[in-house]
Amino acid sequence: MIYDAVILGSGLGGLQCAYILAKNGMSVCVLEKNANSGGCLASFKRKNEEFDTGFHYVGALGKGQILERIFSYFGLMELPWHQLDCNGFDEIVIGDKSFRLSCGYDGFAQTLSDVFPSQSKQISAYSSFLKDVGSKITDPLLKPGDGFFTVNRLLSQNAWEYLQTNISDPLLRNILSGNSLKLELKKESLPLYTFAQINSSYIQSAWRLKGSGSMIADSLVGSIRAMGGDVFMSSEVTEIVEKDGRAEHLTVKDKKSGECRKIFGRHFISNLSPELTLSLVKESKCIRPVFRRRILNLNQTYGFFTVNIKLKEGKIPYFNRNFYCYSPDLDSVWDIAEQADMGKIKGILISQQVPSGPDCRYATHLDILAPMSYSEVREWEGTTPGTRPAEYREFKARKAEECIQMANNCISGLKDAVETCYTSTPLTYQYYTGAIRGTAYGIRKDCNNLLQTLLAPRTPIPNLLLTGQNLNLHGVLGVSITSLMTCSEILEKRALVSFLE
Ligand SMILES: Cc1cc2nc3c(=O)[nH]c(=O)nc-3n(C[C@H](O)[C@H](O)[C@H](O)COP(=O)(O)OP(=O)(O)OC[C@H]3O[C@@H](n4cnc5c(N)ncnc54)[C@H](O)[C@@H]3O)c2cc1C
Repeated sequence: MIYDAVILGSGLGGLQCAYILAKNGMSVCVLEKNANSGGCLASFKRKNEEFDTGFHYVGALGKGQILERIFSYFGLMELPWHQLDCNGFDEIVIGDKSFRLSCGYDGFAQTLSDVFPSQSKQISAYSSFLKDVGSKITDPLLKPGDGFFTVNRLLSQNAWEYLQTNISDPLLRNILSGNSLKLELKKESLPLYTFAQINSSYIQSAWRLKGSGSMIADSLVGSIRAMGGDVFMSSEVTEIVEKDGRAEHLTVKDKKSGECRKIFGRHFISNLSPELTLSLVKESKCIRPVFRRRILNLNQTYGFFTVNIKLKEGKIPYFNRNFYCYSPDLDSVWDIAEQADMGKIKGILISQQVPSGPDCRYATHLDILAPMSYSEVREWEGTTPGTRPAEYREFKARKAEECIQMANNCISGLKDAVETCYTSTPLTYQYYTGAIRGTAYGIRKDCNNLLQTLLAPRTPIPNLLLTGQNLNLHGVLGVSITSLMTCSEILEKRALVSFLE
């Protein structure tokens, strides 16, 4: 059989592409190396407790907001979404000072202006700017000419410089950037577009799932199968085979039996990182060495050290918001990535699961995420989960203690409320999702070097496309927009994105 489209990887991007193409009448096949679908969205279970990996909350899911419109298309609004507190969806704790961010552009500006009355004009201009950028997120899909112009202008602008110029109070700058551990703050390179678009979406409204992120993947897999598509787990793509200037088939290894088979397709979409994708194209007339070098030389955003905690019952209240806690000796939250490069934990994100037990006043599970550089775990490269040496486990235990201590400064009593905890490092992510050096958000886009760092879905092989967080924007919203961009290379764009108009 020759499928109309074969998709490598079942991360959010891969599943959404399969869904779109199946919905448009194409025969699709998704190949996933792991036993479960979802990539970063996949959860894991220990002793019957379920923990999230790369999913904590999303923005813009309120009625008529951008992710709500996209998720309605994918049938994902049926899931049990739970809105975070509009009067404070995120709380930024810097030393002994604490600030809550409110939802809605006006509410956001008003709350901060109450604390910084002398800065109210700047705050209000900043909020209007975010609103404007947010309203343009679909421009590249709906109005290619003008749309690309605005986006490119913001992509080539430096986010740090924008904040320096437009917000004069350094503490206020820290607060406005304080919930940006969900992107990598790099003073020299972060595009204003990435910073503004992601922050804008969460200000519109912020949501958790009552359950784990894998519900998103499970729903998409169910829909793809219901539309006649195939989704194969434990199926690792080991080669993309080119013939006569086109991708012809994939070699796929069944991880349970060890057997290999060929899967043929007319179009191929890779949800894997571009580096991993290219490593699978062993012989090619289309891909020149200069393109391979360009991809191999790309920098990756940082990874995370994560602590997944099962809490003792009735000890820690459920907070309907996230905490971003920073060490008091940190000058700027924009120094976090640099500090992580030196092995230091100076800022963490704390997120709780919505309680599902009988007493909803108390949290049952809590995750701590701290940016981390791959260099800290490089010495254990090549080892696999379950076989890693005692030193690695000791290293993780020390890090976990540091994270819990820091979180305890934000949520008092946390240290004594830990029943069990599990940890992961960039090595874990690299092993499970194939993320290069365990990067959390994929390729580092550089506002000074967009031509090299911003990739389009097209590759030098005409029927091999890319999708996922390494292109355009990362995160659930960014990946969803990119899925539409990737599929619009195959389907008629206007018809495909008409539901966004
Ligand atoms: C710790 C962490 C926390 C995050 N928190 C949030 C959050 O709260 N909100 C948010 O919006 N975003 C969050 N993100 C980002 C978000 O999870 C990602 O941007 C998004 O899920 C990435 O999706 P993707 O489609 O690009 O691919 P991925 O999820 O990376 O999926 C790639 C898939 O390809 C598979 N694969 C790899 N190699 C092969 C092969 N050879 N053959 C077959 N399959 C293969 C992998 O197993 C995987 O399933 C977080 C990320 C991390 C790491």
